[in-house]
Amino acid sequence: MADCIFCSIVDGDIPNHTVYEDDDVLAFLDVNPLARGHTLVIPKEHHERVNDLPADLAADVFATVHDLTDDVEAAVDAEATTIAVNNGPAAGQEVPHVHAHIVPRSEADGGKP
Ligand code: 5GP
Ligand code: ZN
Repeated sequence: MADCIFCSIVDGDIPNHTVYEDDDVLAFLDVNPLARGHTLVIPKEHHERVNDLPADLAADVFATVHDLTDDVEAAVDAEATTIAVNNGPAAGQEVPHVHAHIVPRSEADGGKP
């Protein structure tokens, strides 16, 4: 979709640090991380909100979150992760292309996001 930052990343027009990629899903490091290793998981197809996703694509995105979380934690020696989706502008969604955040966490950073 024109003027979508994450579609531009999918298309290779904006560089990214890719963590994982398949035909339907892309995972890459957040450019402004809340913690080292902060990873975003997106469907390659443009949809604004989780509510807009076909159920099978929603499943693919969450399966990728599932599969990556151990690796993300291990890569930065984290003890846990906050996994979050800001689903709509009023919930803090700034990029209108569905994305799940995987944010590495540790006891030292205080628990709640
Ligand atoms: P939201 O607030 O929409 O849930 O999160 C959007 C996230 O996308 C933010 O954490 C922000 O740092 C990240 N982001 C915005 N633009 C870019 C970009 O061009 N590249 C990457 N890698 N991340 C981006
Ligand atoms: Zn998009």
